[in-house]
Amino acid sequence: MKAHDGLYIDGAWRPAGSTDVIEVVNPADEQVIARIPAAGALDVDTAVRAARAALPGWAATPPAERAARLAALRDVLVARKGEIAETVTAELGSPPQFSQAVHAAVPIAVAGSYAELAATHSFEERVGNSTVLQEPVGVVAAITPWNYPLHQIVAKVAPALAAGCTVVLKPAEDTPLTAQLFAEAVHEADVPAGVFNLVTGLGPVAGQALAEHPGVDLVSFTGSTAVGRQIGAVAGAAVKRVALELGGKSANVILPSADLAKAVNVGVANVMSNSGQTCSAWTRMLVHRDRYDEAVELARTAAAKYADRIGPLVNAKQRTRVRGYIEQGIAEGARLVAGGPESPREKGYFVSPTVFADVSPEMTIAQEEIFGPVLSILPYGDEDDALRIANGTVYGLAGAVWAGDEAEAVAFARRMDTGQVDINGGRFNPLAPFGGYKQSGVGRELGAHGLIEYLQTKSLQF
Ligand code: NAP
Ligand code: MG
Repeated sequence: MKAHDGLYIDGAWRPAGSTDVIEVVNPADEQVIARIPAAGALDVDTAVRAARAALPGWAATPPAERAARLAALRDVLVARKGEIAETVTAELGSPPQFSQAVHAAVPIAVAGSYAELAATHSFEERVGNSTVLQEPVGVVAAITPWNYPLHQIVAKVAPALAAGCTVVLKPAEDTPLTAQLFAEAVHEADVPAGVFNLVTGLGPVAGQALAEHPGVDLVSFTGSTAVGRQIGAVAGAAVKRVALELGGKSANVILPSADLAKAVNVGVANVMSNSGQTCSAWTRMLVHRDRYDEAVELARTAAAKYADRIGPLVNAKQRTRVRGYIEQGIAEGARLVAGGPESPREKGYFVSPTVFADVSPEMTIAQEEIFGPVLSILPYGDEDDALRIANGTVYGLAGAVWAGDEAEAVAFARRMDTGQVDINGGRFNPLAPFGGYKQSGVGRELGAHGLIEYLQTKSLQF
């Protein structure tokens, strides 16, 4: 696609008031591939006003018609799937096959699910002598990260539109071209002017102005816990609704009865996919001490297979950060069994698939989110020990449990302080609620639970 030199506000591409520019870089070869506007506070204000003006009309639009627009949006995403994958590869660096199979395909499934939910959800229910109406919350500020650039956008915008809310989106500065493509798709789907608006820009400028804007009723943020904390504080002070999808440090718990080779291979693939830039990645593998050496050897072999196929990290800053964690792991006494801090290639922000053994639960690499292709393998003694380690971080976003028998895995999963657990390699479900326990966040995305986030209730008594 060709980059736009404007912002998508009130149904058209308009020049930004701010003259600041974002250079979009291809992380595989470090070349600048586009220059796009970095919005200022005045641009954000214009976009919020457009969303406010469009709100009464869209909120009053029958759900069936909102569903029809979302179905049209899904169809445009299907028609432009190849272009979406190419754009994500160009600005995020993910390998083309992964861009097709995940970055382009998952948002199509999610947009489709909200077309259906908008049509079938009952926005009214009878409770005794009351009728309870579910009404849109209002103007939504959506602030998204770069790691799954289109998925993160669709997981907010689709339920917001289904609920009858209007939206201003501030996407990540590293992946604005995917967001521009999404705005084109919304336009092609004949969503009325002002219902969806795009302001590309920097977090501390456009993002902050949007989160603080008094014309915004709900801030839905996905990103780091540090920024999420600030956004939660700003929303709290203004008594605004807020949804936060933050970081994770998820555990992959391999119980002694599990198929070890399968659990390790799937676990390594889970961490290496998207170059480890997945908030729900199972970055801590927990293995019983009797099978520990065998698991480490399996993981070393599995990680080596990713050396040639892994994509780069998104930018130089993330690469520096990830290398710093690898160096810290070595310094704290963990045993490096694959990869390491050296750059595997001359150009591009690459980091080698890295595996650490002999990691203890209190080490930095076992506590903090690295957001790169780095796996830590920790030994445990018995199930209570495994549970203590699994639950022993400030996060609680995801996890996995493997056991010979499903019921045994489920019994363990029930005791985990985390928002989602894959049992013996269970598949991603776009209708299942996604979100965090503890400091991994507030609120849920996807499916009916994700829709409810954008609704507020009004009770009529008879
Ligand atoms: P980030 O720096 O927090 O950025 C997320 C978004 O917030 C970006 O659009 C960013 O703009 C914007 N932003 C930054 N500072 C802001 C401020 N002061 N006010 C308002 N907005 C601001 O996170 P990131 O580095 O892009 O992404 C990596 C992190 O996101 C990881 O910790 C990861 O776990 C988390 N994440 C969580 C989930 C989940 O669902 N739980 C999903 C994906 C990622 P800029 O792009 O200009 O910085
Ligand atoms: Mg950032």
